[in-house]
This record gives sequence, C-alpha cells and structure tokens, in this order.
Amino acid sequence: PMGQTARPGILGRLLGRGEPKTVVRRTLDDDMLEQLEELLIASDMGVDTALRVTANMAEGRFGKKLSTEEIKSLLAQEVARIMEPVARPLPLYPKKPQVVLVVGVNGSGKTTTIGKLASQFRAAGKKVVIAAGDTFRAAAVEQLQVWGERAGVPVLTAAQGSDPASLAWDAMEQAQRDGADLLMIDTAGRLQNRADLMEELAKIVRVIRKKDPDAPHNTLLVLDATTGQNALSQVETFQKLADVSGLVMTKLDGTAKGGVLVALADRFGLPIHAIGVGEQIDDLQAFDPEEFAQALTG
Ligand code: GDP
Repeated sequence: PMGQTARPGILGRLLGRGEPKTVVRRTLDDDMLEQLEELLIASDMGVDTALRVTANMAEGRFGKKLSTEEIKSLLAQEVARIMEPVARPLPLYPKKPQVVLVVGVNGSGKTTTIGKLASQFRAAGKKVVIAAGDTFRAAAVEQLQVWGERAGVPVLTAAQGSDPASLAWDAMEQAQRDGADLLMIDTAGRLQNRADLMEELAKIVRVIRKKDPDAPHNTLLVLDATTGQNALSQVETFQKLADVSGLVMTKLDGTAKGGVLVALADRFGLPIHAIGVGEQIDDLQAFDPEEFAQALTG
C-alpha cells in the first residue's frame, strides 16, 4: 500500500506537473490564498474548514514571499493540527468480551474492515468472535465467512432473514462461554428504511446489554472515503441511529478526496481508529496524522 491518501496532493496541483518544487517563490496574497482554498475544497475538505486552514496558515505571513515547500509545510502543519486529536487506535478494555458493533451503509467496507480487524487482533493474541448480523443479505454473510476463514476467526451466522438481535444474543453467549476477548457484530446497512434499521440496531443493543450493561463498548462507523462530502451526512445519519464512538475510513488508497477526513475531524471530532488502504487482509493501518497531512498537501 502507498501512504495515506490523495495524490496528487495540494502542492502538486498548485504547481502543475514538472515544475521544480523548491525554487518557486510566491507571494502569499489574496490570489494565492484563493488558489489554495480551491485546492483544499477540491480535496473535499469542505468550504468552512478550507477557509480556516488557509486563514490560519496566512496569519502573520500575508504579503510575504514563500517557497512552495514552505507553503506546503505550513498547510501540512494546519492539517496535522486538526487531525492529531482524532488519531486514536481502537481502545482495548480488559473487559471480556469487548463488544464492538460495526455500522455503516452497504458497500462502505464493513465486511472487509471486520475481517482485517479480526486478523490484527488475532495476530496480537486476542481471541475474536464475529457475528454476521446482516442476516438479510446472504452475500454479506458469505463474504464475512470468507474473511473469518482468512483471519482464522469463527463467524456466527443465523438463517437468512432471522432476527439479528437473537444472533447477537447467541454470539454474546458463545463469546462469554469461550472467554473471547473481542466480539465484533456486523449490522445491516440499508438506509432505505431508516426507522426499521434504527429499531434493529436498538434491539441488538438492548439484547446485548442484558448480558453486559456496558456493551457495546465501541460502535464503529465504517465510511468510504471515496464518497467525499457524503461521508459527512452518513455520520449525521448514523449518529441518530446508533451511539457512534469512532470511525474507520476505508478506500483511502487512491482517492483524491482524502480532505473529507479533515472536514470530519473538524465537524465531529470522532476518533479515527483505522484507515483502509486496500482490499487485502493487511491493508488496514493506524491513522497517522503527520503522514496524512504530508500526503494531502504534497
Ligand atoms: P460492506 O458492504 O460494507 O460490507 O462492504 P465490503 O466490505 O463488502 O466492501 C465493499 C467493496 O469495497 C469490496 O469490493 C472491498 O474489496 C472494497 N474495499 C473495502 N475496503 C477497501 C479499502 O480500504 N480499499 C479498497 N481499495 N477497497 C476496499
């Protein structure tokens, strides 16, 4: 996997191809700031965040001549400053099992992310159980089983169309009986009928709380970074449906819309627990704000 997102970066697009990066000096004037704003907005950072980033970087420097390298590093500094507070790996509790509810729209990368996480936790010596809670989509259940095999982790399934809450109950029982460290519960991601989905998620939570009043310990929202600004409305929607505690951003490999992470951090402040950078089992990384800022602005 390549680094964390967005090529060509802001500076690359500012200069155009082939222009030497260090020799060019430009005056930080309104024209320049406007160009930078446009580039940040084009990366899906959103207007408000882009304006604040450029305003902060220009503070005390307006009218000065800066090399493009200096411009880049100032921008990167601003971006990293916004991202640092949200870069937090999934917190692990001594609680057994730690229950992680995984939510997100279909296609966002829920299944893949659960498989990758299961593999990482297993490699770290944790005992993991997965519950295939999207009982309506047969394909989703099959995919999760494939990922479970890859990760060497058992996947609990139920008959198609059966109640996800009853599967969640069984999964809690099995995870407790087996002394599992971690139980990851996949959920349905059809937003077509939000009232249904809300009730379904609420019921899962009610049921697992009968087994452990503190569960779920994490509610992970999986977001597809290539959807750009749409990710913002998905957070709003899922915050109404569930008690979202953190994010996983998928498909950061090869998207030029990585700026949406900055908009998300700025607006919601939810921790980014991991990023997906490919389709393979090892393509899940901790979010590194510095590397991300460099890639976005490079
Ligand atoms: P779900 O419907 O939310 O469970 O989504 P899936 O896990 O099935 O993923 C949907 C598609 O996105 C699949 O083709 C995955 O291979 C792909 N995908 C998931 N995560 C990533 C990622 O980080 N990078 C890339 N390039 N593709 C991904």
